[in-house]
Amino acid sequence: MPSILAAVMPAPRAPVEVREFPEPELAPGSALLRTSFSEVCGTDVHLWHGRLAGVPYPISPGHVSVGIAAKVRGDMTSVDGTRVREGDRLVFFDVHRTCGRCRACTVARTPTRCEQRRVYGITDSAADGLFGGWAQAIYLEPGVVSARLPDNVPDEAYIGGGCGLVTAVHIIERASLGLADTVLVQGTGAVGLSAIALARLAGASLIVAIGAPSDRLELARRMGADLAIDLQRTTEASRRDQILSATDGAGVDVAIEAAGSARAVEEGPGLIRDGGRYVIAGHYTDAGPSSINVHQQINRKHLEIRGCWGSEVAHFVRAVRILARHHAAIPWQAIGAGTYGLDEVNRALADAEAMRLPKALVKPN
Ligand SMILES: [Zn+2]
Ligand SMILES: [Zn+2]
Repeated sequence: MPSILAAVMPAPRAPVEVREFPEPELAPGSALLRTSFSEVCGTDVHLWHGRLAGVPYPISPGHVSVGIAAKVRGDMTSVDGTRVREGDRLVFFDVHRTCGRCRACTVARTPTRCEQRRVYGITDSAADGLFGGWAQAIYLEPGVVSARLPDNVPDEAYIGGGCGLVTAVHIIERASLGLADTVLVQGTGAVGLSAIALARLAGASLIVAIGAPSDRLELARRMGADLAIDLQRTTEASRRDQILSATDGAGVDVAIEAAGSARAVEEGPGLIRDGGRYVIAGHYTDAGPSSINVHQQINRKHLEIRGCWGSEVAHFVRAVRILARHHAAIPWQAIGAGTYGLDEVNRALADAEAMRLPKALVKPN
């Protein structure tokens, strides 16, 4: 690879440009990954809108990707302890640095809140090199956690799940689902769709999804929702009626917010049973305040509310295992409904922004 093309977002709202990069010098224990697929997720749309703090534009976006190890220098081991070899089909955990020493990393044990956390496609400037997936190649620096994608898992299944699947593994962990729990998922984007599938795998007895646009609801059913309610064609009162009547008048045991909407959080508590649990995972950017009646909706209700921020290596590893076992039965591949070349990423972003498809894939080579 004499020179490598990468799509660069110069600044918020500015058109993404394809630029040429020199092939990087590989440090010992690093690799150059020839990108097979990356994705456009909701975070990329937020990056384009300039709604994430501290992003060092210009950046090359694309934080979750799959590719082939084109060049490996020295000893690089994957997360299972085996040596990475040229030609391996690799996936990697997008968080490539946390400090391991700060209060978040050691005392609170919330490494997703480490201030030194670095994430491919989000926190690295294009000036630092090939740290994004919207590029013909990605530099996997020493210490990156990688895994070989199991032979039976198509690239398209991995990237269809993508960051939404890894996030959903964390959500289900935070939700502490019990066998036969009833579950509501608010939001049918990539995160919500994966949360539906994983709630089913975790043994939920009823899964209700609230989402939009209407074509997503069919996909929500295919992912495992028993009841998919169209947000745009129902009222809050009618949604509540449907969910109460599906749960013997009680409300669901656990609700998962994956909508990123302040209104969803106002609605959620009224759909959960007394003593139930609410996991908030969709507010990756500030969607503004939600107004709730604390007496009625939290205190008297004995409601438990848990946030869920980012993901850890264990969630990535579990996501790969889940795909190895379940990719044929659960249509993750259908989430990645459109594929775009490097020179088409502006259209991909516009389509993602307008929610014209569940997820746009980027195929740089
Ligand atoms: Zn993402
Ligand atoms: Zn730290």
